[in-house]
Amino acid sequence: MACVSFPYDAPVSQTLFDRASLVTPGGVNSPVRAFRAVGGTPRFMVSGAGPYLTDADGREYVDLVCSWGPMILGHSHPEVIAAVQEAVARGTSFGTPGEGEVALAEEIVARVEPVEQVRLVSSGTEATMSAIRLARGFTGRAKVVKFAGCYHGHVDALLASAGSGVATFGLPDTPGVTGAQAGDTIVLPYNDLEAVRAAFAAHPGEIACVITEASPGNMGVVPPLDGFNAGLKELCAAHGALYVSDEVMTGFRTSKAGWFGVDGVRPDLMTFGKVMGGGFPAAAFGGRADVMAHLAPAGPVYQAGTLSGNPVATAAGLAQLRLLDDAAYAKVNAASAEIRGLVSAALDKEGVAHTVQAASNMFSVFFTEGPVRDYEDAKRQEAFRFTAFFHSMLAQGVYLPPSAFESWFVSTAHDTQAVERIAAALPAAARAASEATA
Ligand code: PLP
Repeated sequence: MACVSFPYDAPVSQTLFDRASLVTPGGVNSPVRAFRAVGGTPRFMVSGAGPYLTDADGREYVDLVCSWGPMILGHSHPEVIAAVQEAVARGTSFGTPGEGEVALAEEIVARVEPVEQVRLVSSGTEATMSAIRLARGFTGRAKVVKFAGCYHGHVDALLASAGSGVATFGLPDTPGVTGAQAGDTIVLPYNDLEAVRAAFAAHPGEIACVITEASPGNMGVVPPLDGFNAGLKELCAAHGALYVSDEVMTGFRTSKAGWFGVDGVRPDLMTFGKVMGGGFPAAAFGGRADVMAHLAPAGPVYQAGTLSGNPVATAAGLAQLRLLDDAAYAKVNAASAEIRGLVSAALDKEGVAHTVQAASNMFSVFFTEGPVRDYEDAKRQEAFRFTAFFHSMLAQGVYLPPSAFESWFVSTAHDTQAVERIAAALPAAARAASEATA
């Protein structure tokens, strides 16, 4: 980080960060917000409107994080805000069933054909944790296959990662995750069907499910190779395991029906979050009715939540989903394509080796020649160039994810003016990337 100078300071954010660091570990409530990968002071945001965020120092940014995906209509969309205000006025939590959660479940079931039944929860982590439990309860098997570089929330069993390569038992690489919790996790390289085949051969009758990001965005955007998801589905079916597609990031973002709407591979179980909550804590898991029937109180697999189906969160989510029609996706996709083109052209002009990978409107920029097919490829990039690029963009009023291994997100609110601001910032950022040294 020594090579990066921070072109301006952020005194109010710095003061807030100092206060936060006294009372909160690392000063943040979710690690990547802390700017540790890029250095500098995390910006404390005070408001958002359309494609813009304003920080505590009064600086405005074009937001290319969109709260890590949820804000697909931009910030403070009037119809979402109105739905929230209307819900809040009626009370914030009842601990009983309510019509809003039925309507949100119906909307999900109507949009995503493989989802016959759905259970609402409050975070993506809860959704994947519950889906894994259900898969184990349904199959009576213990082992779970996941892929290196895929993130499914901070579920103990799913934090295991491969280290180097081939099929292996996951070892706990986060203190606090025990060998017992991670010992039933098999971590495989992404996009490698042979490794999956080998794992099924090595563990006959033991694998409950394969969980994968429908199209990964947590090692940067690394779409599945043609046939990969279909191959997973086929192998799971052949071996009596469930195919669990994690659409927390891609769900209702990459199309009306998420990544399922793009590749049409039918999962047994799916998980959702982010966009479906409209900026509130709402998430879900769902799928085959015969599998979901094993969930309490219909069946024996326990799962519950005090705030599950919260009326304010469901009102926000429903309002957002109902606004997400074909025209909205066309708009987000067009903005994404334009920004991708601009970034690539600016980096080309400065001779910076890079590859821009996209999954529908999700995309990221790897500072290496492509293609990037798995986590090992992603790690080969020159992340120090991203650091310089990031800080130049930040100084010029464009807020990127503070890590080279994250997706960038746009919204329907990213209009010509917002794109022009990004375009104006890119030449200097590309130059900073080209001049950066490790
Ligand atoms: N699954 C995927 C694919 C994610 O991207 C995330 C979060 O980024 C999660 C699960 C966890 O969701 P949450 O942060 O809401 O717990």
